[in-house]
Amino acid sequence: MSLTQRIVSAMLMGLFVGALLNILTSGAMLPVAIKSWLELYLVNGLFDSVGQIFVRSLKLLVVPLVFVSLICGVSSLGNNARMGAVASKTVALYMATTAIAIALAIMVAVIVQPGAGIDLALATEFVAKEAPPLKDTIINIFPSNPVQSMANGSILQVIVFSLLMGLAISKSGEKGKRISEFFNDFNEVIMKMVMILMRLAPYGIFCLLAKLFADVGIGMILNLAKYFFTVLFVLLLHSLGVYTIIFKFFTGLSVRMFLSKMRSTLVLAFSTSSSGATMPVTLRTVEKRLGVDNRVASFTVPLGATINMDGTAIMQGVATVFIAQAYNIGLGLDGYLTVVLTATLASIGTAAVPGVGLVMLVMVLNQVGLPVEGIGLIIGVDRLLDMTRTATNVTGDAMVTTVIANSENFLDRDIFNDPEAGLMQDV
Ligand code: ASP
Repeated sequence: MSLTQRIVSAMLMGLFVGALLNILTSGAMLPVAIKSWLELYLVNGLFDSVGQIFVRSLKLLVVPLVFVSLICGVSSLGNNARMGAVASKTVALYMATTAIAIALAIMVAVIVQPGAGIDLALATEFVAKEAPPLKDTIINIFPSNPVQSMANGSILQVIVFSLLMGLAISKSGEKGKRISEFFNDFNEVIMKMVMILMRLAPYGIFCLLAKLFADVGIGMILNLAKYFFTVLFVLLLHSLGVYTIIFKFFTGLSVRMFLSKMRSTLVLAFSTSSSGATMPVTLRTVEKRLGVDNRVASFTVPLGATINMDGTAIMQGVATVFIAQAYNIGLGLDGYLTVVLTATLASIGTAAVPGVGLVMLVMVLNQVGLPVEGIGLIIGVDRLLDMTRTATNVTGDAMVTTVIANSENFLDRDIFNDPEAGLMQDV
Protein backbone atom coordinates (compact mmCIF):
# COMPACT_ATOMS: atom_id res chain seq x y z
CA MET A 1 0.00 0.00 0.00
CA SER A 2 1.14 3.56 -0.64
CA LEU A 3 1.59 5.84 2.34
CA THR A 4 -1.53 7.81 1.42
CA GLN A 5 -3.56 4.61 1.32
CA ARG A 6 -2.18 3.57 4.68
CA ILE A 7 -3.02 6.97 6.14
CA VAL A 8 -6.59 6.86 4.83
CA SER A 9 -7.06 3.27 6.07
CA ALA A 10 -5.68 4.26 9.47
CA MET A 11 -8.25 7.03 9.65
CA LEU A 12 -11.12 4.69 8.81
CA MET A 13 -9.89 2.02 11.21
CA GLY A 14 -9.44 4.60 13.97
CA LEU A 15 -13.01 5.85 13.49
CA PHE A 16 -14.34 2.31 13.52
CA VAL A 17 -12.37 1.03 16.51
CA GLY A 18 -13.13 4.21 18.50
CA ALA A 19 -16.86 4.01 17.81
CA LEU A 20 -16.86 0.32 18.68
CA LEU A 21 -15.03 0.94 21.95
CA ASN A 22 -17.51 3.69 22.75
CA ILE A 23 -20.41 1.29 22.32
CA LEU A 24 -18.66 -1.47 24.28
CA THR A 25 -17.64 0.70 27.20
CA SER A 26 -20.92 2.57 27.52
CA GLY A 27 -23.26 -0.42 27.11
CA ALA A 28 -23.93 -3.29 29.51
CA MET A 29 -22.42 -5.95 27.25
CA LEU A 30 -19.09 -6.24 29.02
CA PRO A 31 -18.27 -6.79 32.70
CA VAL A 32 -17.28 -3.59 34.54
CA ALA A 33 -13.72 -4.82 35.10
CA ILE A 34 -13.09 -5.28 31.38
CA LYS A 35 -14.68 -1.93 30.58
CA SER A 36 -12.48 -0.07 32.99
CA TRP A 37 -9.44 -1.98 31.75
CA LEU A 38 -10.23 -0.92 28.19
CA GLU A 39 -10.70 2.68 29.23
CA LEU A 40 -7.68 2.87 31.48
CA TYR A 41 -5.07 0.98 29.51
CA LEU A 42 -6.22 1.04 25.93
CA VAL A 43 -8.10 4.30 25.33
CA ASN A 44 -6.54 6.58 27.93
CA GLY A 45 -3.28 4.64 28.05
CA LEU A 46 -1.97 3.37 24.74
CA PHE A 47 -4.10 5.33 22.25
CA ASP A 48 -3.88 8.61 24.12
CA SER A 49 -0.11 8.38 24.63
CA VAL A 50 0.75 7.41 21.05
CA GLY A 51 -1.63 10.08 19.70
CA GLN A 52 -0.17 12.78 21.90
CA ILE A 53 3.40 11.79 21.14
CA PHE A 54 2.62 11.99 17.43
CA VAL A 55 1.08 15.48 17.65
CA ARG A 56 3.95 16.70 19.79
CA SER A 57 6.46 15.38 17.27
CA LEU A 58 4.70 17.26 14.49
CA LYS A 59 4.59 20.45 16.51
CA LEU A 60 8.26 20.01 17.27
CA LEU A 61 9.02 20.73 13.64
CA VAL A 62 6.96 23.89 13.32
CA VAL A 63 9.34 26.50 14.73
CA PRO A 64 12.57 25.19 13.14
CA LEU A 65 10.78 24.71 9.85
CA VAL A 66 9.26 28.19 9.68
CA PHE A 67 12.54 29.78 10.71
CA VAL A 68 14.80 27.89 8.34
CA SER A 69 12.45 27.63 5.40
CA LEU A 70 11.44 31.27 5.44
CA ILE A 71 15.05 32.42 5.66
CA CYS A 72 15.81 30.28 2.59
CA GLY A 73 12.85 31.73 0.75
CA VAL A 74 13.44 35.38 1.54
CA SER A 75 17.21 35.29 1.15
CA SER A 76 16.91 33.85 -2.35
CA LEU A 77 14.11 36.21 -3.27
CA GLY A 78 16.48 38.94 -2.23
CA ASN A 79 15.77 42.45 -3.30
CA ASN A 80 13.04 41.21 -5.59
CA ALA A 81 10.28 43.76 -5.30
CA ARG A 82 7.75 40.97 -5.58
CA MET A 83 7.99 40.17 -1.87
CA GLY A 84 5.65 43.03 -1.01
CA ALA A 85 3.23 42.00 -3.73
CA VAL A 86 3.24 38.37 -2.57
CA ALA A 87 2.60 39.44 1.02
CA SER A 88 -0.23 41.82 0.28
CA LYS A 89 -1.95 39.55 -2.24
CA THR A 90 -1.75 36.64 0.20
CA VAL A 91 -3.23 38.51 3.12
CA ALA A 92 -5.95 39.96 0.87
CA LEU A 93 -6.91 36.55 -0.51
CA TYR A 94 -6.86 34.91 2.93
CA MET A 95 -9.17 37.60 4.25
CA ALA A 96 -11.44 37.55 1.22
CA THR A 97 -11.96 33.79 1.38
CA THR A 98 -12.69 34.04 5.10
CA ALA A 99 -15.26 36.78 4.54
CA ILE A 100 -16.92 34.71 1.78
CA ALA A 101 -16.91 31.66 4.07
CA ILE A 102 -18.66 33.38 6.92
CA ALA A 103 -21.15 35.18 4.66
CA LEU A 104 -22.02 31.84 3.07
CA ALA A 105 -22.44 30.26 6.49
CA ILE A 106 -24.78 33.01 7.66
CA MET A 107 -26.89 32.78 4.51
CA VAL A 108 -27.30 29.01 4.74
CA ALA A 109 -28.01 29.14 8.47
CA VAL A 110 -30.65 31.85 8.03
CA ILE A 111 -32.40 29.58 5.52
CA VAL A 112 -31.99 26.29 7.43
CA GLN A 113 -32.78 27.80 10.88
CA PRO A 114 -30.73 25.29 12.91
CA GLY A 115 -31.46 27.07 16.20
CA ALA A 116 -35.22 27.39 15.96
CA GLY A 117 -37.02 25.74 18.86
CA ILE A 118 -33.87 24.60 20.68
CA ASP A 119 -34.32 23.84 24.37
CA LEU A 120 -32.10 26.33 26.20
CA ALA A 121 -31.91 24.02 29.20
CA LEU A 122 -29.69 21.72 27.13
CA ALA A 123 -26.80 24.17 27.40
CA THR A 124 -23.79 22.90 29.31
CA GLU A 125 -21.82 25.38 31.32
CA PHE A 126 -19.33 27.33 29.27
CA VAL A 127 -16.60 29.50 30.69
CA ALA A 128 -15.44 32.03 28.14
CA LYS A 129 -11.72 32.52 27.63
CA GLU A 130 -10.71 36.13 27.15
CA ALA A 131 -9.42 37.09 23.74
CA PRO A 132 -6.72 39.79 23.70
CA PRO A 133 -7.69 43.26 22.41
CA LEU A 134 -6.88 44.00 18.78
CA LYS A 135 -4.23 46.59 19.64
CA ASP A 136 -2.25 44.05 21.69
CA THR A 137 -2.63 41.51 18.94
CA ILE A 138 -1.05 43.86 16.43
CA ILE A 139 1.77 44.89 18.75
CA ASN A 140 2.37 41.23 19.55
CA ILE A 141 3.20 40.39 15.97
CA PHE A 142 6.53 42.10 16.55
CA PRO A 143 8.99 40.15 18.70
CA SER A 144 11.16 41.74 21.33
CA ASN A 145 13.14 38.57 21.87
CA PRO A 146 13.36 36.02 19.04
CA VAL A 147 14.43 33.20 21.33
CA GLN A 148 11.40 33.77 23.49
CA SER A 149 9.16 33.88 20.38
CA MET A 150 10.51 30.52 19.33
CA ALA A 151 10.21 29.07 22.82
CA ASN A 152 6.59 30.20 23.03
CA GLY A 153 5.87 29.04 19.51
CA SER A 154 4.55 32.48 18.49
CA ILE A 155 4.55 31.84 14.78
CA LEU A 156 3.79 35.37 13.60
CA GLN A 157 6.74 36.65 15.61
CA VAL A 158 8.99 33.94 14.20
CA ILE A 159 7.80 34.91 10.71
CA VAL A 160 8.70 38.57 11.28
CA PHE A 161 12.15 37.70 12.62
CA SER A 162 12.87 35.26 9.79
CA LEU A 163 11.74 37.78 7.16
CA LEU A 164 14.12 40.34 8.57
CA MET A 165 17.00 37.91 8.78
CA GLY A 166 16.39 36.54 5.27
CA LEU A 167 16.35 40.07 3.90
CA ALA A 168 19.59 40.91 5.68
CA ILE A 169 21.26 37.75 4.36
CA SER A 170 20.29 38.66 0.81
CA LYS A 171 21.93 42.05 1.25
CA SER A 172 25.17 40.71 2.76
CA GLY A 173 27.06 39.74 -0.39
CA GLU A 174 29.54 36.85 -0.16
CA LYS A 175 29.07 36.34 3.56
CA GLY A 176 25.33 36.24 3.13
CA LYS A 177 25.71 33.65 0.40
CA ARG A 178 27.60 31.32 2.71
CA ILE A 179 24.94 31.60 5.39
CA SER A 180 22.22 31.15 2.83
CA GLU A 181 23.84 27.91 1.65
CA PHE A 182 23.92 26.66 5.20
CA PHE A 183 20.22 27.37 5.64
CA ASN A 184 19.42 25.66 2.34
CA ASP A 185 21.12 22.48 3.52
CA PHE A 186 19.47 22.79 6.90
CA ASN A 187 16.10 23.09 5.18
CA GLU A 188 16.64 19.79 3.38
CA VAL A 189 17.43 18.11 6.68
CA ILE A 190 14.25 19.38 8.31
CA MET A 191 12.19 18.29 5.30
CA LYS A 192 13.68 14.82 5.81
CA MET A 193 12.47 14.93 9.40
CA VAL A 194 8.96 15.69 8.14
CA MET A 195 9.14 12.66 5.91
CA ILE A 196 10.42 10.39 8.64
CA LEU A 197 7.52 11.46 10.84
CA MET A 198 5.02 10.89 8.09
CA ARG A 199 6.03 7.25 8.01
CA LEU A 200 4.68 7.05 11.53
CA ALA A 201 1.54 8.96 10.65
CA PRO A 202 -0.75 5.93 10.15
CA TYR A 203 -0.13 4.81 13.74
CA GLY A 204 -0.53 8.31 15.16
CA ILE A 205 -3.70 8.96 13.18
CA PHE A 206 -5.22 5.64 14.15
CA CYS A 207 -4.59 6.28 17.85
CA LEU A 208 -5.83 9.89 17.78
CA LEU A 209 -9.11 8.95 16.16
CA ALA A 210 -9.67 5.76 18.16
CA LYS A 211 -9.20 7.72 21.40
CA LEU A 212 -11.45 10.59 20.30
CA PHE A 213 -14.30 8.45 19.07
CA ALA A 214 -14.10 6.15 22.07
CA ASP A 215 -14.61 9.24 24.23
CA VAL A 216 -17.08 11.26 22.23
CA GLY A 217 -19.37 8.77 20.53
CA ILE A 218 -21.57 9.68 17.64
CA GLY A 219 -24.73 9.95 19.76
CA MET A 220 -23.85 13.57 20.58
CA ILE A 221 -24.57 14.53 17.01
CA LEU A 222 -28.22 13.48 17.20
CA ASN A 223 -29.24 16.22 19.66
CA LEU A 224 -27.67 18.88 17.51
CA ALA A 225 -28.09 17.25 14.13
CA LYS A 226 -29.40 20.33 12.38
CA TYR A 227 -26.54 22.53 13.59
CA PHE A 228 -23.93 19.86 12.96
CA PHE A 229 -25.01 19.08 9.42
CA THR A 230 -25.49 22.74 8.53
CA VAL A 231 -21.86 23.44 9.46
CA LEU A 232 -20.75 20.32 7.62
CA PHE A 233 -22.75 21.27 4.54
CA VAL A 234 -21.27 24.78 4.38
CA LEU A 235 -17.75 23.39 4.93
CA LEU A 236 -18.22 21.13 1.93
CA LEU A 237 -19.84 23.87 -0.12
CA HIS A 238 -16.93 26.19 0.59
CA SER A 239 -14.18 23.59 0.09
CA LEU A 240 -15.59 22.02 -3.04
CA GLY A 241 -17.50 24.99 -4.45
CA VAL A 242 -15.89 28.32 -3.60
CA TYR A 243 -12.31 26.99 -3.60
CA THR A 244 -12.86 25.14 -6.86
CA ILE A 245 -14.14 28.28 -8.58
CA ILE A 246 -11.28 30.44 -7.28
CA PHE A 247 -8.67 27.81 -8.07
CA LYS A 248 -9.95 27.09 -11.55
CA PHE A 249 -10.46 30.77 -12.36
CA PHE A 250 -6.97 31.88 -11.32
CA THR A 251 -4.87 28.87 -12.30
CA GLY A 252 -6.84 26.81 -14.82
CA LEU A 253 -5.31 23.70 -13.20
CA SER A 254 -7.06 20.47 -12.31
CA VAL A 255 -8.92 20.66 -9.01
CA ARG A 256 -9.05 16.90 -8.87
CA MET A 257 -5.26 16.68 -9.00
CA PHE A 258 -5.02 19.32 -6.29
CA LEU A 259 -7.37 17.45 -3.98
CA SER A 260 -5.85 14.05 -4.63
CA LYS A 261 -2.40 15.36 -3.75
CA MET A 262 -3.76 17.00 -0.61
CA ARG A 263 -5.42 13.81 0.63
CA SER A 264 -2.97 12.66 3.29
CA THR A 265 -2.42 16.22 4.50
CA LEU A 266 -6.16 16.61 4.96
CA VAL A 267 -6.44 13.34 6.87
CA LEU A 268 -3.72 14.63 9.14
CA ALA A 269 -5.52 17.95 9.65
CA PHE A 270 -8.71 16.05 10.42
CA SER A 271 -7.01 13.77 12.95
CA THR A 272 -4.94 16.39 14.76
CA SER A 273 -7.52 19.23 14.60
CA SER A 274 -4.65 21.64 14.30
CA SER A 275 -3.53 23.58 11.25
CA GLY A 276 -0.39 24.38 13.22
CA ALA A 277 0.60 20.77 13.83
CA THR A 278 -0.22 19.91 10.22
CA MET A 279 1.79 22.86 8.89
CA PRO A 280 5.09 21.03 8.29
CA VAL A 281 3.29 18.47 6.15
CA THR A 282 1.23 21.14 4.36
CA LEU A 283 4.45 22.92 3.48
CA ARG A 284 6.06 19.78 2.17
CA THR A 285 2.97 18.91 0.13
CA VAL A 286 2.64 22.30 -1.56
CA GLU A 287 6.34 22.43 -2.36
CA LYS A 288 7.13 18.89 -3.42
CA ARG A 289 3.74 17.61 -4.59
CA LEU A 290 2.01 20.73 -5.93
CA GLY A 291 5.15 22.42 -7.27
CA VAL A 292 5.01 25.74 -5.38
CA ASP A 293 8.40 27.41 -5.08
CA ASN A 294 9.82 27.62 -1.55
CA ARG A 295 10.09 31.40 -1.96
CA VAL A 296 6.32 31.70 -1.89
CA ALA A 297 5.29 28.66 0.16
CA SER A 298 7.68 29.31 3.07
CA PHE A 299 5.81 32.55 3.70
CA THR A 300 2.22 31.81 2.73
CA VAL A 301 1.83 28.41 4.41
CA PRO A 302 2.92 29.34 7.98
CA LEU A 303 0.99 32.58 7.66
CA GLY A 304 -2.09 30.70 6.49
CA ALA A 305 -1.82 28.14 9.28
CA THR A 306 -1.89 31.05 11.72
CA ILE A 307 -4.37 33.52 10.27
CA ASN A 308 -6.44 31.77 7.62
CA MET A 309 -9.36 29.89 9.11
CA ASP A 310 -12.25 29.67 6.72
CA GLY A 311 -13.62 26.49 8.28
CA THR A 312 -13.56 28.12 11.69
CA ALA A 313 -15.29 31.20 10.28
CA ILE A 314 -18.02 28.96 8.88
CA MET A 315 -18.60 27.41 12.29
CA GLN A 316 -18.81 30.91 13.77
CA GLY A 317 -21.31 32.08 11.17
CA VAL A 318 -23.63 29.13 11.72
CA ALA A 319 -23.15 29.22 15.50
CA THR A 320 -24.00 32.93 15.71
CA VAL A 321 -27.21 32.48 13.76
CA PHE A 322 -27.97 29.34 15.79
CA ILE A 323 -27.56 31.14 19.11
CA ALA A 324 -29.54 34.16 17.91
CA GLN A 325 -32.38 31.84 16.91
CA ALA A 326 -32.21 29.76 20.07
CA TYR A 327 -32.50 32.91 22.22
CA ASN A 328 -34.96 34.52 19.86
CA ILE A 329 -32.83 37.58 19.25
CA GLY A 330 -33.06 39.26 15.85
CA LEU A 331 -29.68 40.33 14.44
CA GLY A 332 -30.66 42.24 11.30
CA LEU A 333 -28.44 42.96 8.34
CA ASP A 334 -26.04 45.23 10.22
CA GLY A 335 -25.68 42.56 12.91
CA TYR A 336 -24.68 40.01 10.30
CA LEU A 337 -22.27 42.43 8.66
CA THR A 338 -20.66 43.02 12.05
CA VAL A 339 -20.31 39.24 12.42
CA VAL A 340 -18.57 38.97 9.03
CA LEU A 341 -16.19 41.80 9.87
CA THR A 342 -15.41 40.69 13.43
CA ALA A 343 -14.87 37.06 12.49
CA THR A 344 -12.59 37.97 9.60
CA LEU A 345 -10.46 40.18 11.83
CA ALA A 346 -10.58 37.74 14.75
CA SER A 347 -9.24 34.97 12.54
CA ILE A 348 -6.07 36.99 12.17
CA GLY A 349 -5.59 37.49 15.87
CA THR A 350 -5.89 33.95 17.19
CA ALA A 351 -3.33 31.18 17.03
CA ALA A 352 -3.94 27.89 15.26
CA VAL A 353 -4.53 25.44 18.07
CA PRO A 354 -7.40 23.02 18.70
CA GLY A 355 -10.43 24.81 20.04
CA VAL A 356 -9.30 28.34 19.24
CA GLY A 357 -12.48 28.74 17.20
CA LEU A 358 -14.47 29.05 20.40
CA VAL A 359 -12.33 31.91 21.68
CA MET A 360 -12.99 33.73 18.44
CA LEU A 361 -16.67 32.97 18.73
CA VAL A 362 -16.75 34.70 22.11
CA MET A 363 -15.38 37.83 20.46
CA VAL A 364 -18.01 37.69 17.74
CA LEU A 365 -20.91 37.09 20.13
CA ASN A 366 -19.80 39.94 22.39
CA GLN A 367 -19.58 42.25 19.43
CA VAL A 368 -23.19 41.72 18.41
CA GLY A 369 -24.53 41.43 21.96
CA LEU A 370 -25.51 37.76 21.93
CA PRO A 371 -25.26 35.71 25.15
CA VAL A 372 -21.90 33.97 25.37
CA GLU A 373 -23.50 31.17 27.43
CA GLY A 374 -25.15 30.14 24.17
CA ILE A 375 -21.87 28.44 23.29
CA GLY A 376 -22.81 25.84 25.89
CA LEU A 377 -25.50 24.67 23.47
CA ILE A 378 -23.09 23.72 20.72
CA ILE A 379 -20.03 22.70 22.68
CA GLY A 380 -21.00 19.02 22.66
CA VAL A 381 -20.27 18.61 18.98
CA ASP A 382 -17.53 21.19 18.73
CA ARG A 383 -14.69 18.71 19.04
CA LEU A 384 -16.02 16.77 16.05
CA LEU A 385 -16.59 19.90 14.01
CA ASP A 386 -13.11 21.11 14.90
CA MET A 387 -11.69 18.20 12.91
CA THR A 388 -13.68 18.92 9.79
CA ARG A 389 -13.17 22.67 9.86
CA THR A 390 -9.41 22.22 10.33
CA ALA A 391 -9.38 20.21 7.09
CA THR A 392 -11.11 23.15 5.38
CA ASN A 393 -8.64 25.60 6.93
CA VAL A 394 -5.70 23.61 5.58
CA THR A 395 -7.29 23.25 2.13
CA GLY A 396 -7.62 27.03 2.07
CA ASP A 397 -3.95 27.54 2.99
CA ALA A 398 -2.79 25.27 0.18
CA MET A 399 -5.26 26.64 -2.35
CA VAL A 400 -4.34 30.28 -1.74
CA THR A 401 -0.64 29.38 -1.77
CA THR A 402 -0.97 27.72 -5.18
CA VAL A 403 -3.01 30.61 -6.60
CA ILE A 404 -0.50 33.21 -5.40
CA ALA A 405 2.48 31.16 -6.65
CA ASN A 406 0.82 30.79 -10.03
CA SER A 407 0.17 34.51 -10.29
CA GLU A 408 3.82 35.26 -9.54
CA ASN A 409 5.23 32.57 -11.83
CA PHE A 410 6.48 30.60 -8.86
CA LEU A 411 4.52 27.45 -9.67
CA ASP A 412 6.10 24.52 -11.48
CA ARG A 413 3.20 23.19 -13.53
CA ASP A 414 5.08 20.03 -14.50
CA ILE A 415 5.40 19.05 -10.87
CA PHE A 416 1.75 19.91 -10.27
CA ASN A 417 0.58 17.76 -13.16
CA ASP A 418 2.83 14.80 -12.34
CA PRO A 419 0.82 12.44 -10.10
CA GLU A 420 4.03 10.82 -8.81
CA ALA A 421 5.88 14.04 -7.91
CA GLY A 422 7.12 14.17 -4.33
CA LEU A 423 5.46 10.95 -3.23
CA MET A 424 6.58 10.15 0.29
CA GLN A 425 7.95 6.67 -0.28
CA ASP A 426 11.65 7.30 -0.44
CA VAL A 427 12.59 7.91 3.17
N1 ASP B 1 -8.42 23.76 15.02
C1 ASP B 1 -8.54 24.80 14.04
C2 ASP B 1 -7.23 24.91 13.28
O1 ASP B 1 -6.19 24.65 13.83
C3 ASP B 1 -8.90 26.11 14.63
C4 ASP B 1 -10.27 26.04 15.26
O2 ASP B 1 -11.24 26.07 14.52
O3 ASP B 1 -10.40 25.95 16.47
O4 ASP B 1 -7.25 25.26 12.13
